[in-house]
Formats: sequence, structure tokens, C-alpha cells
Amino acid sequence: MSSPAGGAELNRPGGLRGERHVAHGSRGASPIRLVALVGNPNSGKTTLFNALTGLRQRVGNYPGVTVERKEGRLRLGGGPEVTLLDLPGTYSLIPGSPDEQITTDILLGTADHTPLPDAVICVVDANHLERNLYLVSQIIDHRIPTVVALNMIDIAERSGIRIDVRSLARELGVPVLPTVASKSEGIEELTSAVAALPAANSPGNGWRLPAPVERETDELAGILEEALHISPPNARHEAMKLLTTESALLERMDRFAPEVIAHVKRDQDKLDFLGFDRHSVFVESRYDWIKSVCMQSVARKSSQERSLSDRIDAVITHRVWGVVIFLAMMALVFQAMFSWAQLPMDLIKQGFDWLGTRVAVAMPPGDLRDLIIHGGIAGVAAVVTFLPQILFLFFFLGLLEDTGYMARAAFIMGRVMSKVGLHGKSFIPLLGSFACAIPGIMATRTIGNPRDRLATMLVAPLVSCSARLPVYALMIAAVIPPLTIFGFISLPGVTMLSMYLLGLGMALFMAWIFKKTLLRGGPPSFIIELPPYTMPSLRSTLTLMWERAWLFLKRAGTIILGASILLWFLASYPKLDGGTPADRLNHSFVGFAGRMIEPAIRPLGFDWKIGIGLITSLIQREVFVSTMGTIYDVGSGEGEHGGLAERLRSSRDPLTGANSFTPLTGICIMVYYVLAMQCFSTVAVMRRETNGWKWPLFQVAYMTALAYGVTFIVFRAGTAMGIGGG
Ligand code: GDP
Ligand code: MG
Repeated sequence: MSSPAGGAELNRPGGLRGERHVAHGSRGASPIRLVALVGNPNSGKTTLFNALTGLRQRVGNYPGVTVERKEGRLRLGGGPEVTLLDLPGTYSLIPGSPDEQITTDILLGTADHTPLPDAVICVVDANHLERNLYLVSQIIDHRIPTVVALNMIDIAERSGIRIDVRSLARELGVPVLPTVASKSEGIEELTSAVAALPAANSPGNGWRLPAPVERETDELAGILEEALHISPPNARHEAMKLLTTESALLERMDRFAPEVIAHVKRDQDKLDFLGFDRHSVFVESRYDWIKSVCMQSVARKSSQERSLSDRIDAVITHRVWGVVIFLAMMALVFQAMFSWAQLPMDLIKQGFDWLGTRVAVAMPPGDLRDLIIHGGIAGVAAVVTFLPQILFLFFFLGLLEDTGYMARAAFIMGRVMSKVGLHGKSFIPLLGSFACAIPGIMATRTIGNPRDRLATMLVAPLVSCSARLPVYALMIAAVIPPLTIFGFISLPGVTMLSMYLLGLGMALFMAWIFKKTLLRGGPPSFIIELPPYTMPSLRSTLTLMWERAWLFLKRAGTIILGASILLWFLASYPKLDGGTPADRLNHSFVGFAGRMIEPAIRPLGFDWKIGIGLITSLIQREVFVSTMGTIYDVGSGEGEHGGLAERLRSSRDPLTGANSFTPLTGICIMVYYVLAMQCFSTVAVMRRETNGWKWPLFQVAYMTALAYGVTFIVFRAGTAMGIGGG
């Protein structure tokens, strides 16, 4: 993963493609097909992308890594449609993370998944011009035709920053167009400027190195160009990297010819001898130039008073008030997911029930009818009922992100989350997982560091989701006596709370373990940039909701539907004519499998009936309840578990007459459900998000082991204490 950009250059003649632009004098011969959107993180890239492409976008992943790839279609000033690619944000073309590596590879033309873009729109935050121009100057060095979108000009103007756009364009040697991406201002001018781009940037009179350094760099670049068959700009980039650090050369030792290695070393020594600090001379020369550009083009109105954002931040990141506001915000999100989402979820459920009844009435009884009702419709319903929660979660996430509050929330939670080695941003996905692990896992996309993101995804399903609630409710009704302790603490309530705490505690504990072992890395960075507050844009929030909902339907939908149909088949065949529904289920493959796994789950205090429930609830945990209803022959327990709970409590082992469903059994089932994966949909989403089977399988394995181990201990301890009854 850390293969340096230069390494790829050696293997691929990609650099030659860069040459095309240098060779051609005018655009005519090579029309623009691919335009890349680049810029520092938080410069407004995604907002601009949405403004440019509307909903015509596709989201995927780059091959082999969990970095999101977004592309859309864009019409260039009345001309043809071109592809617009939103590259991961980066501060420079010296990559430090997989995201930045991808951006660098693509802009150097050395990525095998994506060709060198024909043009680049570099998004620049007008409020941090110096820092942003660093990347611009590197891109200009590569002579890719570039337009600068001077974004967030509205905020800059409000805080008294005046930028002379024409002077800036002249100094940089590329077109500069002011934009306000969040209000779609300046979009047409921007696309016209892209359409009018020449096929290559002239070398320009950009930045200068001190003369001796320039000489050595030039000479080395010439040698590299010949030896590695790369384009002049790529050769220069490579030369600067080799002269800056020793490690760059070490990484390439086995790929460079001895005389090239010798030459690099000689040049390094020469520069050292001349008294240049090689580690900083390249960066500083560039910054010197940037400073002079800014000096000519930027005027700052001196304002003594603190900006509005600063004043708001004094409250929102306050040690006490900040936490209070944060908790209130999270309570709101929680409320939305659990209460407000309930009505649409019920409606959807009723809708599907109604549909099932209609089908039942309209079709003659038989396999096909059963398949459609219990396989197809039930499968689609299982997917679609999640939608309201997903839409609500991402609606709020979008708003919070857009206003700039999310960065503050990450800052506030940073102190707590860092105790388990996670980034403050991991908090939101874990919170979302209380509704459902799927939106939780999808929300990890905002976590920049891939190790932190993976750790968060791995533990998110341990947080008790809403599908576990019916299981807990049934078990508590069955085995926990409705006692009140100290006059006000209800035992069932405490039990429920304990399950939620067990899940959350385990999630944090496992995150801590993963960060100490498998996903070891430096402590997460706590430099969280606080972007200025902005008015949220409904449009970008709705786009986000739509995008995530669609992703979810596509990703989870197909797999869940397939699994649901498969499970229906396994629960219906081999067929038994006559008998009760319980008899038919017992006679099926699922019934057989339940008895097969009984020896394995005996040590947990589970019998084969529970085994059947474990299998059927793989589709969605709450199916456990209806399966128990079928097995114990009590309807499907429409909403209240009274009858079923009573049946479970009083069930006797036919041989010994001992109670076969003791309080301990109920507790063990709950503990198992807290910790076990038991969810196809989550596995499916993990596979998509991590681009492979490795992590989802690992996740299933570790969670199963954890669930088994802990339940076993609880069962043994409980038996020893005599809670197990017979
Ligand atoms: P990215 O990290 O570069 O993709 O940045 P985003 O597109 O996510 O934008 C970061 C924040 O800046 C979001 O809250 C946007 O709504 C906001 N934003 C983007 N462009 C502008 C702009 O031109 N003016 C203002 N006021 N806000 C903007
Ligand atoms: Mg973005």
C-alpha cells in the first residue's frame, strides 16, 4: 500500500502519456474526456462536484483499497459531455495516506485503474490560499491543463479577504474562477474555462529553486527521464523526491541501475556540501513563491474583532456547554432514528403484510405462493424497512457535516474516543449502529484514517441494533420476573440496559484491542481542522441521503433477497404433508441443521429448537421471535410476546420433565445475540465497503468466537450459581 508513486512510474510507461500534452500544441487533436477534481480536504470539492454533475454520479471504490471513487457526467460549456472524477482530498503530491496515494498516482498518470486526466479543476479554499496553492503549484509543475476554482469566496469576502483574481491568474499562469459551490455560483464560467483550456500548461515562470539546486535537480531529472522512460515533469518530481530524503532512494534501490544510484548519491552529497538543507529547500522555495504570489494578489482587511465562527466555537467546543450541546444533538439523531422512523417503518411493514395477504388471497396455495410471500416479499420487506432509519441518519449527518458542526463533534468526542485509540469521528457511526449496523458502517466513510475506519467498522455490529430489541423483549418477558428493586429500579429494565451496555462496552473494548494489535498505528491525529460555520444546503444533504439510500438498496438488497429466498427453501424442504407448521419446520433442512448443531451449542445451554432460531435469524435477528412462535406453536405473536413467553417458561423436557427453558437459557440467548454477528446484511455491506471477503469473514469469525466464549462463561457461571434450574 505504501508503494511510492515513483515506484509505479518505473513499471509503467504511464509518464509517456503525460508527454502527449506537452507534444501537442493545441487542444484540437485530443478532446477532453476525463476531468479530475482535486483539492485540499474541506475545500468544497464534493459540494462543487455535486453542483457540477447534479445527480448524474456513480459511487464505487478504487480497486484493492477502501477509498471511495466518485464520478459523474458534466457538460462543458455547450460542448460534449465529459467524465468528472472527484479525487480524494490531498495537501500535496507527496502522498502520506492511501487516499493521497491514489490522487497522486492519477495525476502523475501512473495509476493502472484510471488514465491521466485531460484536465484538472483544482478547488482552492480562498480563505487558506497559501496552504491550498501548494498543491496547485505541484499540479502546474506537471503541466496538466488546470483551472483553479477559487471557492468559498463568499466566506472570504465576509471575513475581509480581498483577492485580485486576475492578478492571481497571471501569477499562476492558469485560469482562476471564483465560485461559491454551496450556492452553485460561478459554475458556468468554470466549465467554459475548462472547455477553453489548451492541451498543456506552458511551463510558466513559476517558482525557482536556488541556482545550484536547480542545476542538480535539472541534471538528475534528465538522467531519470532517460533511464526510466518517464515524462519530463514526472522525472523532475522524482528527482526532487530523491534529493529530499534518503528513504526515497532506499525504496528504489533494487529497481535503479547502479550508476543512477551513484548519481543520486553524488548529487545529494554535493547539495549537502554546498550547505543546502535538502529536506526543506524544495518545500521552502515553493512556499517563497506562493507567498510572493499571495502578496501581490491578496489584501486582508485588518479586523480586530473575532470572526463569528470563533465566537460560536467558544461555546460549542466549551468543556461543559460543548458536551451538553453535543449530547442534545445526539439525542435528536437518536430520537429521529428510533421514534420518528418508527411510523414510516410500521407503514412499510404493514404495506408488505397487506401485499402478502393480497397474494395469499389471489394465488392458489402451493410452493410458488409460499416462495413469493415468505421468500420474496419477506426478503424485500426486510431490506426496505431499514430505509427510514437510514434516511434519517444521513439526513442529520448531512446537515451536521454541512454546517461545520461535525468537525466540532469529532473534536468534543476526541477526548473520550482516544482512550480506546479511536478518532472522534468514530463516535457517529457507533451511535448510528444503535439503529442498525448498516448505516453505521456506511457512516464510517467520513473517517479519514483507514485503520481507524476499519476498526470502527469491525466493532460497529457489536452495538445493539434495533433488530435485537424484539429478541431481548421476548427473553426478558419469558425469564426475568417483573420485580422492582429498592422501590424504583425495575429488574426487566435493568436487564435490557445491561444488554445495551454489554454491546457498547464490548465494541469499545474490541476497538481498543484491534488498535493495539491488528490495526496498530500511531495515535489518531488530533489536529482537527474546524471549518467555518456555514448555512447547510438542503440540496447537498438530499443528495447525500439519496446516494446512501441507493447504495444501501443496491448493496444489501440483492444479497438479502437472495438469502431470504434460500432460507425459505431450506425451511420448507424436504416437504412434510400435513402436520403443524412446527412439524413442517422440524422436518425441513433448517430443522435438520438445528439438530445438527445442537452438540455445538449444548455447552451454551441451547437445544435444537434454539438452534433452528439461530439459523433462521441470520436473515434478520428479530426473525428469532417468529421462529420460536412457529416452533412453540403460538401464532407469530403479533406484537406482544405474552403467550409465547408463557409457553417458553413452562416448556418441559419430554424425557426428564425438567424445565427446558430456564432463566439462564434466556440470559444466555440474550448475551449470544448481543455479541454474535447473526446478520447477512451486515456481512454483505462489509464486503462492499472493504472491497473483499477478508474483513467480513474475519469479523464473522471473531464475533462468533466472542459470542460463544462469553455465553459459555455466563452459562457455566450461572449453572454453578444455580440459576440454571434442572
Ligand atoms: P471537500 O472535503 O473538499 O469535499 O469539502 P465539502 O464539499 O465536503 O465542503 C466542506 C464544507 O464547505 C461543506 O459544509 C460545504 O457545504 C461548504 N462549502 C463548500 N463550498 C462552499 C462555498 O463556496 N461557500 C460556503 N459558504 N461554503 C461552502
Ligand atoms: Mg469530499
